[in-house]
Formats: sequence, C-alpha cells, structure tokens
Amino acid sequence: CGIVGYIGKRDVTPLLLEGLQRLEYRGYDSVGVAILGTGPGRAGGLRTVKAKGRVRDLRDRVPERFTGTTGIAHTRWATHGVPSDENAHPHQDASGRVAVVHNGIFDNAGELRAKLAAEGVEFASETDTEVLAHLIGRSQAPTLEERVREALAHIEGTYGVAVLHADFPDRIVVARNGSPVVLGIGEHEMFFASDVAALVSHTRQVITLGDGEMATLTADDYRTYTTEGSRTSATPTTVEWEA
Ligand code: GLU
Repeated sequence: CGIVGYIGKRDVTPLLLEGLQRLEYRGYDSVGVAILGTGPGRAGGLRTVKAKGRVRDLRDRVPERFTGTTGIAHTRWATHGVPSDENAHPHQDASGRVAVVHNGIFDNAGELRAKLAAEGVEFASETDTEVLAHLIGRSQAPTLEERVREALAHIEGTYGVAVLHADFPDRIVVARNGSPVVLGIGEHEMFFASDVAALVSHTRQVITLGDGEMATLTADDYRTYTTEGSRTSATPTTVEWEA
C-alpha cells in the first residue's frame, strides 16, 4: 500500500516511523521497517521489525538501539496472504542480507514460488512479494542494480519496490511499474515514498519515477535508469504544499 525510505546521516528509525504515519490515511493492515544498522550485527547489520496492526503497534516493538542511517518501510494492504506478522513487509531472502518492500501485485508469484520451492527455497510468508527477495538474494550479478534488474525480469505484475542489501550498504534501489514511487532530494540525504505526503516535511525537491524506471539513492546522489539499464534524465521539480 505505502512505501517510504531514507539514506543519509540522520537516525533513520524515527524518520521511517514518521513517514509511515504520514501514509496511514491511505489505510493498511500491517507495517514494518528494515534498517542497515551501524554496529556489527547479524546479516551485515540488516535488521527488520514488523507487526500486524498500526504504526503504534510497530513503535512498541522497535528494540532499543535500533539505529542506523539507511532504511525502508511499508504499510501493507494484503492481497496475497492474510494480514499477519509473517506476511508484513519487509521480506527477506534466506541469508537475511536482502530486504524488500513492495506495493502492488506480482501476477506470476505462484509460478515463481513453485519453481523456487522446487530448488529448495523455504518461504517465510504467504506473500507474492517474498519471491523478489529470494530472486535478488540468488543473483550473482556484480552490482545491486543488476541483481534487482535481473530479478524483476522474472516478474509480471505491478510494483513500487525498494531494496536494501547488506553487501551494498551505501545505497537503496527502487523500481516502479504501475505503483507510484517519488524520490525526495535533500542535502546529503535522499528520501523516497509512494506519496509526496511522506516527503514534504523534509524536502520539496522531488522526482516522480515513470513506469519501467528504476533509481539508485546514495546519501549524496541519485541516478535514474530504465529496467533495461539505460540512463534516464531526472530533473527535480519543486512541489507546492500547504503545510
Ligand atoms: N501484494 C503484496 C502483499 O500482499 C503487497 C500489497 C500492498 O500493496 O500493500 O503483501
């Protein structure tokens, strides 16, 4: 239903919770966040917390020192799998080094699940989304962008997705096909969301991705390109917003 994320220098968890609250008006049944922690941790510092219920239910579950400067978050409106803690996003691959949030529907998820299951992949949820985490986790391509691109090439359906990977901690990769993704351009910090409402308290400089477009966000830069990998021009526009 809603996605939001941040990469920069500030503590990411309060920013994600605030962003989720700004997406609440759209309705949802579950929430979750994934952050890249600054300290050494399991799976390269990638940690998730999620909950069926409201943003405040999630807030109650956030462990102490759940800190980092990079993260992605989701409000879910279930389409594949009941509302539950397990089905809440972010979804991860078996290594725990990949985290994915997704708005939309993967039409061929059943087929992809069966194929992956036959190859020994164990699923932690009933969602269509989880296949993407496993596909990215299995890719051997040299860059995160190529891994995401390779994984998305198997998928039919609609998406606004965001990907964190512990092996590529300096970036967030997002992609859009039929579900909105807007980038928010800050000073040494970058945001994205499915809705400008979640960005405007931080920046008015935005770029709306087109269908078939992807982007890489780092703390200091952004880059947009097609799902085939060719660069696209992206000039921020200023959004007018009555606070
Ligand atoms: N299809 C995904 C799910 O059921 C995402 C739903 C959404 O857009 O929130 O988990």
